[in-house]
Order: sequence, then C-alpha cells, then structure tokens
Amino acid sequence: MDYYSSQITKLIETLSGLPGIGSKSAQRLAFHIINMPEDSVEALADSIVSARKKVCRCKECCTLTDNELCPICKSPERDKQTIMVVENSRDLAAYEKTGKFNGVYHVLHGAISPLLNVTPADITIKELLVRLQQDVKEVIIATNSNIEGEATAMYISKLLKPAGIKVTRIASGVPVGGDLEYIDEVTLLRALEGRKEL
Ligand code: ZN
Repeated sequence: MDYYSSQITKLIETLSGLPGIGSKSAQRLAFHIINMPEDSVEALADSIVSARKKVCRCKECCTLTDNELCPICKSPERDKQTIMVVENSRDLAAYEKTGKFNGVYHVLHGAISPLLNVTPADITIKELLVRLQQDVKEVIIATNSNIEGEATAMYISKLLKPAGIKVTRIASGVPVGGDLEYIDEVTLLRALEGRKEL
C-alpha cells in the first residue's frame, strides 16, 4: 500500500537502492528533495547525469577521469616504471593524498571473488598486462588485505613472475579486512615503505 504519493514511493525505492542508504535515510532524502526549489532539484539531477555521461576510464591506468588520460598518467613528473595496483579510484585517491608516491597506478575496479562471481576477466588485469609490455621495473600490489584482495594479489603475482617483473605487496600495517580508503595516511605510507617482494 502507498502511504505517500506513488511518485514519492518510487523516489524512496530508487534512493534506497544506493549503497549506504537505508529505507529511513531514503525517506528523509526523498522528502528533502520534494521540498527543494525546482531549479535546485534540476541542478542536482543534471550533475548526476553529467557525471555519469562524462566520466570515463583513463586509457592508461583505468582510473575514473574526465579525459582520455588522467592527470597522473599525463604528468611527465611521474615515474612510469613503478605501477601501484589498487582496487578502485578511491584507494588511488587515498595514496595520492599522502603525496609520497611518485609512480603511477593501475585501477582494477574490483577484486577477484569466487563467492561474488568476480573472475579475473571482470577486472582490468588484461589492461595491466598490456601496460607491462612497456619498460616497467616494479609492480606494487596494494589491494585490500581481505580474502578477495589477497586472492587478487596472489593471482597477479603468479601471472607476472614469469615475465621477470619485480612484484611487491604492501606490508600488513593495513589491518586485515581493512578498506584502504579508511586508513590514515601514516599507516598507508608505512605499508608502502614496508612492502615485500612476492
Ligand atoms: Zn591514468
């Protein structure tokens, strides 16, 4: 039964499909939106549509960007021979915030998970292999330290070893099961500095 207008119910349902938005938050947001001036709602909707349309993957590192190449891949200052592999663009941002990593990144857009049916073909491992045909000295695997992150690290290291590329894994300063994006910069740096060869 509709307690509200069917339009409001539909809006609540749509919003509650977003991550981290429970039904109570969805209700609160829906009523907030309904009470906003119409032009503000239009501006909000436009920014969502425009971001979705214009954001694409960097053709080098696969991170989300507005252009063909992201600012990091484009920069002549960055060391293109050191590639840090991360699960998503948020993890990239976390390492960038430390300001201490001068290499480039590779964004996987996920991690291998038999449970969730995510296979190596579902993340950007193929794109990583293409990049490794250039002169690369070290691949630092900075996936999360949960089961999926570890499985992904093992998979990539086994794949790269025969090619003679140095593969390292960030140290376990990052708590088990910890999401990289929630970890403070000091811990991130310690994990990077303490990386070990796989
Ligand atoms: Zn890039």
